[in-house]
Amino acid sequence: MSRSHDLFAAAQRHIPGGVNSPVRAFRGVGGDPVFFESAAGPYAFDADGKRYVDYVGSWGPMILGHTHPEVLAAVRERLDKGLSFGAPTELETVMADKVCELVPSMDMVRMVSSGTEATMSALRLARGYTGRDKIVKFEGCYHGHADSLLVKAGSGALTFGEPSSPGVPAALAELTITLRYNDLEQVRQTFAEVGSEIACIIVEPVAGNMNCIPPVPGFLEGLRAICDQYGSVLIFDEVMTGFRVALGCAQGLYGIKPDLTALGKVIGGGMPVGAFGGRQEIMSRLSPLGPVYQAGTLSGNPIAMAAGLKTLELISAPGFFDRLTTRTTTLLEGLQTRADAAGIPFSTNQVGGMFGLFFTREKVTNYEQATQCNQEQFKAFFHGMLERGIYLAPSAFEAGFVSIMHDDEQIQVTLDAAAATFATLAG
Ligand code: PMP
Repeated sequence: MSRSHDLFAAAQRHIPGGVNSPVRAFRGVGGDPVFFESAAGPYAFDADGKRYVDYVGSWGPMILGHTHPEVLAAVRERLDKGLSFGAPTELETVMADKVCELVPSMDMVRMVSSGTEATMSALRLARGYTGRDKIVKFEGCYHGHADSLLVKAGSGALTFGEPSSPGVPAALAELTITLRYNDLEQVRQTFAEVGSEIACIIVEPVAGNMNCIPPVPGFLEGLRAICDQYGSVLIFDEVMTGFRVALGCAQGLYGIKPDLTALGKVIGGGMPVGAFGGRQEIMSRLSPLGPVYQAGTLSGNPIAMAAGLKTLELISAPGFFDRLTTRTTTLLEGLQTRADAAGIPFSTNQVGGMFGLFFTREKVTNYEQATQCNQEQFKAFFHGMLERGIYLAPSAFEAGFVSIMHDDEQIQVTLDAAAATFATLAG
């Protein structure tokens, strides 16, 4: 038996399900989760010393690959100066200036410690700013685990939302309207009925939590126009897409200016960091300037800022995103060719360094299609790849991530493993 197996058994004694975040438990694919010990560049090493080419990258942050020497040096330099002050440091200003420079829709930004905090706070601010309670989100998008956002659609498309987790009060869930991603007409209809009561639309500008699904042309533009018409706040949840699909985030790539943006993952370079920000008029409603309350003991933590800032500096190098995008395309084209050769129905989506793999012949553009893909084939593919040293997200509903350290060599190893795995699926 592997050490991971023993470690998982031990973990379950005092940690619910043996994990500190549910998707790590391999529920979607079966088997024991891999326990990792260390990582370097494009590789992660498990507790038995087995090496994997890592396409999870801590669920997105590790865009420079693991243990980047310059990021580690920046962290080490800060370590001796103190871990946390709970008082302002210059680094926070440098971070705020850098974020607002890279993301022009953001006049002001506040740092937090997770993506969940970022979206939850953006939501409160949108409600406080508009004086409205209802919010619109989309099926298949994930925005962290704040109560208002753990809500699924009610039985009819335009009916009140229902809690998607026990513990979320029904009275709160009723304020969340869940609509279909990439279906602008449904958004229009909803606003025609209750637009004046809607505080905000929150959307992943590229969905990454129902696998990877880009917006169809006109969808994000339409959301912008509808929010303008009804005086609602447009929130882009760029926790995953921010500094991942392009240096200017998805909003730069598609040329849409949201009112508020939530960030996480890459902005912390692997440390616990999130941020939210946007138009000055809205952000100045935030405490201590305004009445909308939000706070954090470890917000803007200096070690986390050091890791994040160095990451942002390195991804700002000319040509970085072109290289990352090209590598991701090479990987996906190679996978498609090998699936086709084995006669496996397969399609892919890609935006920058973010990708999705689907066991279907169709191009996937919405949640329903994503749920209709062949789950059994995905599971078999996942385990076949894992055995061959390729670590993919352990769920058919998660995006994958390429780092700048994934070079021709790692991509070739991945494609060879895929050819062998597809062949076993073909039977
Ligand atoms: N928003 C999006 C789009 C995410 O992908 C995630 C996490 N995967 C979150 C919010 C929540 O971030 P965190 O896990 O850091 O709380």
